[in-house]
Amino acid sequence: MRVERKAIPISGGIALGRVVLFDRSRMIVERKQIDPASVESEKDRFMTAVGRSKAELLSIKDGMSSTEEGDHLQILNINIMMLEDELLSGEVIKLIESEGVNAEWAVNSVLSRKSETFRNVEDIYMKERLADIYYLGERILRNLRGAGGEKLRLGKDSILIAHDVSAVDVVECAKNGALAIVTDIGTSTSHSAIVAKSVGIPAVMGLEDITLRACPGDRIFVDGFSGTVILDPDEHELEGFRKLKSDYAALEKKLLEYAKLPGKTLDGRDVRINANIEITDELGHASCFGAEGIGMYRTEFLFTKSASYPGEQEQYENYKKVIESLDSPIMTIRTLDIGGDKFPAGMELSRMLNPALGLRGIRYSLRDVETFKTQIKAILRASASTGKKVRILLPMISGISELRKAKAIISEVASGLGEGPSWAVGVMIETPSAAIMVSDIAAEADFLSIGTNDLIQYTLAIDRVNEHVSYLYSPFHPAILRLITGVVDAARPNNIPVAVCGEMAGQLPCVPLLVGLGVDELSMNTHSIPRVKKLLGSITEKESKEIACASLGLKTEADIRDYVTREVIKKWGDSLPPEFIEEIVVPS
Ligand code: PEP
Ligand code: MG
Repeated sequence: MRVERKAIPISGGIALGRVVLFDRSRMIVERKQIDPASVESEKDRFMTAVGRSKAELLSIKDGMSSTEEGDHLQILNINIMMLEDELLSGEVIKLIESEGVNAEWAVNSVLSRKSETFRNVEDIYMKERLADIYYLGERILRNLRGAGGEKLRLGKDSILIAHDVSAVDVVECAKNGALAIVTDIGTSTSHSAIVAKSVGIPAVMGLEDITLRACPGDRIFVDGFSGTVILDPDEHELEGFRKLKSDYAALEKKLLEYAKLPGKTLDGRDVRINANIEITDELGHASCFGAEGIGMYRTEFLFTKSASYPGEQEQYENYKKVIESLDSPIMTIRTLDIGGDKFPAGMELSRMLNPALGLRGIRYSLRDVETFKTQIKAILRASASTGKKVRILLPMISGISELRKAKAIISEVASGLGEGPSWAVGVMIETPSAAIMVSDIAAEADFLSIGTNDLIQYTLAIDRVNEHVSYLYSPFHPAILRLITGVVDAARPNNIPVAVCGEMAGQLPCVPLLVGLGVDELSMNTHSIPRVKKLLGSITEKESKEIACASLGLKTEADIRDYVTREVIKKWGDSLPPEFIEEIVVPS
């Protein structure tokens, strides 16, 4: 039956294909009733996952030097003890037997109950055990997924329909050649949306009930520019589809022309235009869309694609590929930013503990130090073998002590490698505390990169994945502009560059604002690069500064947005392609 809907256009592109309905049970730990004959094999599946988790932890422990001590050794020991605790595994097994439920559900239920007990105690030490439970649960669930988890099954004409997708699923879709993604819920600043844009897969989100309307195999048309989705389109609409497809191809051709432009304003100010990438498959795009460097490689997708984390050699080869991909001094690898809304599918413990404020980014790396050291070693080896300097970017830094700890680990790993690697350490400014402490941070960092996606989320107290508050989420908020000004002011006396690597960097009306505020580099999804280069070449630094300066005197988000868009069109509208004007007036 024909159904037409319009929702949030997330990632541009036109697609016609067949519906593949994504079972939500992969996203959340759903309760599944298992038949009595499968109870034994479910118990075995659980025990195998426990065994694997224990083996992983023991091998991490074995790899530690005998003199090593401190928090992470203690945490490791507590985790191993919990895995050996027969009471804990007994409870999970009992639940599988008595209620006939799947192992994931049983693990989640038992660990949730345990966390509740710890949550209600006053003792700080006991409260810290909450994080241990989270960490352990995540490991078991990851191993359960490896032991029989569901996989996406996509063909070449598949269009994925899901209630929600994780960023990891988007990467999987792109790798498997899916044509588009359509979801019931979602916002344009969630990681799944960002990744969809980055990998260039058309996507429309927020259709509310598309999963109830679509049946597997239905023909479906998706327009990622306008946000239109049509199930079972008629002949006339198919005609329209062909026309849109050829218009889109013409637009792509134009973009490839813009890609060759330098990252420079009309009056000669260099603003380096870099790419954010999530998977190495994007490196080809980065180069042909004109990236002048890699401003941020989000390494978490390398970590979340399979049941166990990649080893040092696999990471080394991966990072080497990134470093070698462009002839540029700006090759930035961000260390693992797992957490928030980036978890391997099935790790539903993430949803229990307010994940955006939980164990994510550098906090995770400083807790799981062995994983961090392995990643750093792989990055530094990649630098040594290519002879190129690598920029190491630390996510979610909230203060100077995290930076110092991370730098100490980097130096320790480097000294074990001897001569060869060359690196710079940068800090993501994406928490309000980092923005407030930025002059101290700038004194100890080699570069700064403003993560506006999170900076907006945490400063304005707006969950970036919650569609109910997304109307408040805006880069034009005066608080954000003032924080960015503070970052630039702190960087200057220290002579270090400032980049913006959040989505704001690729939004056309924000470009003059950021240039005017004094930002040195903009890093964005590869598909935005040609448009931003074209805009940059049409504006001047001098007038951008005037716009930025006047904006800083305004007090509301609406006033700033209206002022900036009006000024950009007034000053440069005549020299911009018509589709840019539309985008500037209605920023996506
Ligand atoms: C950001 O927060 O702006 C950022 C670039 O990091 P991510 O979107 O991966 O959280
Ligand atoms: Mg971030």
